[in-house]
Amino acid sequence: MNNNLQIYNTLSRTKEKFEPIVPPHVGMYVCGPTVYGDAHLGHARPAITFDVVFRYLMHIGYKVRYVRNITDVGHLENDADEGEDKIVKKARLESLEPMEVVKLFTDRYHKNMDQLNVLHPSIEPTASGHIIEQIELIKSILNNGYAYEADGSVYFDVEKYNKDYQYGKLSGRKTEDLLENTRILAGQDEKKNSYDFALWKKTDPKHIMQWPSPWSDGYPGWHLECSAMGAKYLGEKFDIHGGGMDLLFPHHESEIAQSNASRGHDPVKYWMHNNMITIGGQKMGKSLNNFITLDEFFSGNQELLTRAYSPMTIRFFILQAHYRSTLDFSNEALQAAEKGMHKLFNTIEIIDKLVPTEKSTIDVRQFESRLYEAMNDDFNTPITIAYLFDLSRLINQVNDGKEKLTKEDISFVKELFAVFIFKVLGLKNESGKNSDLLIDQLMNTILVIRNDAKLNKDWATADRIREDLSKLKINIKDTKDGSEWSFE
Ligand code: ZN
Repeated sequence: MNNNLQIYNTLSRTKEKFEPIVPPHVGMYVCGPTVYGDAHLGHARPAITFDVVFRYLMHIGYKVRYVRNITDVGHLENDADEGEDKIVKKARLESLEPMEVVKLFTDRYHKNMDQLNVLHPSIEPTASGHIIEQIELIKSILNNGYAYEADGSVYFDVEKYNKDYQYGKLSGRKTEDLLENTRILAGQDEKKNSYDFALWKKTDPKHIMQWPSPWSDGYPGWHLECSAMGAKYLGEKFDIHGGGMDLLFPHHESEIAQSNASRGHDPVKYWMHNNMITIGGQKMGKSLNNFITLDEFFSGNQELLTRAYSPMTIRFFILQAHYRSTLDFSNEALQAAEKGMHKLFNTIEIIDKLVPTEKSTIDVRQFESRLYEAMNDDFNTPITIAYLFDLSRLINQVNDGKEKLTKEDISFVKELFAVFIFKVLGLKNESGKNSDLLIDQLMNTILVIRNDAKLNKDWATADRIREDLSKLKINIKDTKDGSEWSFE
């Protein structure tokens, strides 16, 4: 087993040699989506980052149990335990059952992840499926004196915890600063301190998602699910916990606190965080109106996009930056990524046509150790890709007759390309063969034409499109935002 892997640990703020707790097994937990809306570029980055971590660990010989959860209850609109549950709100707005919202957006998330060639996790638990485990965790935190009950809700006592442990060690925040920042909210609720966070929230009887507990009918706090499910499937201390940098505080900080408060030790050996994606230097967000969903990227149907981009272009674009760097979206950057990716795929075709000679004039074998060194250096995919481009240039020189390679070297290079491009980076050649995607794109074009017909009051054309598609067993459903299609 290749064991030169170094991982940057957010907790120690240094690169550390990767030594799993019980090799060759690796337990990895990544915070998955809260399923109340379509997946966007901000969802693609952690999914692809940790997909490559998952793939590479398996490639170098580890047996990985990868848990990526689905948050379907308890994630409120803001981090101060205020506002409505995101899923309940969506359900209310759309007149759906909360679990209909969960199913709809979980299915869409899965479809997008398949399009991006993200491997399925080993286990995909939901928060609502682990209420009992979360209640047990609250009981032990209460028993150890690090939580308090207030009118049927239970809150984590950050001040008490901070006397014995350190709240803020992951994010580098200090409780005094937290107090400073959140003082305005204090006194408005039943918390002792505004930075205390909810473990259990009592609900009014009309609330649509609630469960019985020793304290009240209610629901668990958002940070609790990952502590409960991580421990259940990976053990009380496991190897890797990942997620986006936006989860560092308060979500992951609180996970550490909950684990220490209930079990007396940290839950995770290596904390990994991917950086954010920006658009024109600004953080992406619905309120900024620069929010592009993955489906919009694949169809090109969004005003910020000059055209459609394939899922592999998105994947390659994300991997061209190191996961700890910010990544700025632009149409130009995506088009450059697409061009680069095609160059690599072209090279694979060129390798098949190379004419071998007796002796090689270039050393292609050195690239093997370079590629592994790049990946071993905290999964440095941009350097890995840069070496693949170097190799690609050499292969093109062989093809032009400027350099020579033996039969053995040609098959060596072919294998090396295949391992890194397909297995490790998880790219796939999309050229004309991805019929699902093509159908999506064609249907999108047809629906845009039909919508234009409707806007022009050309009902004959709109109806004809619907009828003809119906003969192909494709149903069109008009919604308030446009139309949707599905197979019968
Ligand atoms: Zn989480």
